[in-house]
Amino acid sequence: MKQRSIKQVASAIREDIDDLITRRALPTHQVRIVDPFLFLNHHGPQTYPSPNHGLPFGPHPHRGFETVTFILEGDIAHRDSGGHESVINAGGVQWMTAGDGLIHEEVSSEEFMKKGGPLEILQLWVNLPAKLKRTKPNYRGLQAPDIPKIKTDDGKVTVEVVSGSWLGEKGAFEPLVDIQCQLLHLKASAQLDLTVSAPRNIFFYVVRGSVTVNGQTAERFQLVEFNNDGDTLRVNAEEDAVILFAHADPFNEPVISHGPFVMNTKAEIIEAIEDYQAGKFG
Ligand code: MN
Repeated sequence: MKQRSIKQVASAIREDIDDLITRRALPTHQVRIVDPFLFLNHHGPQTYPSPNHGLPFGPHPHRGFETVTFILEGDIAHRDSGGHESVINAGGVQWMTAGDGLIHEEVSSEEFMKKGGPLEILQLWVNLPAKLKRTKPNYRGLQAPDIPKIKTDDGKVTVEVVSGSWLGEKGAFEPLVDIQCQLLHLKASAQLDLTVSAPRNIFFYVVRGSVTVNGQTAERFQLVEFNNDGDTLRVNAEEDAVILFAHADPFNEPVISHGPFVMNTKAEIIEAIEDYQAGKFG
């Protein structure tokens, strides 16, 4: 067992969308991809007034990948061309397989727009391998109680098992490929040891607080990029902290992205645009 070395600690880039505070942690000029993890937007934290217009994500298409959305505060009213509809509240997670293509909207509930309140949301884009890019679209939205939570013996760490498994506990979602995804909640002075086999790529983003991981400090809004030279991580929390932690085997396939479409070739991107314009996304 050898500790993984850190390639870099990279700060998210502030890129607000209207009145929605937004930081993009991936891609940045520092980190282009953590294959197969493509993109992370961190919205908020902020407090919306009463009344407000809510989230600005009206109907738009996707093809070729998956979106995993963590509602930390506030809510999301989701509707898509596959007939799925839900309002997911704080603590819930949405896992959408865009696959062959769908159109969805991610807006706020009527209640949120009327009353306002705190809002904080993470959206992670996970690529699909070439053989699954045109798979049947799917969506599942789960509320907080549906996400398994495991506490460490000393009570200082709570792991939300979003996908994959943790100490034998199965995650809430079963992705088409082996994507392990957890939200780690650490209390001040917590220590957590993690093992991830060296070939797998690790996605490690500090959502709240500040931690030391393998000897390096990482603060809120920072992404830690690891080398594939070891299998252990030691995380120490200086203060209460939340980490978005995921890992997967890299696909090592070409990635051509154009807005909401992520494919393997330029021809497939043109096809996606044409299919969308022809109304084939439902
Ligand atoms: Mn979307």
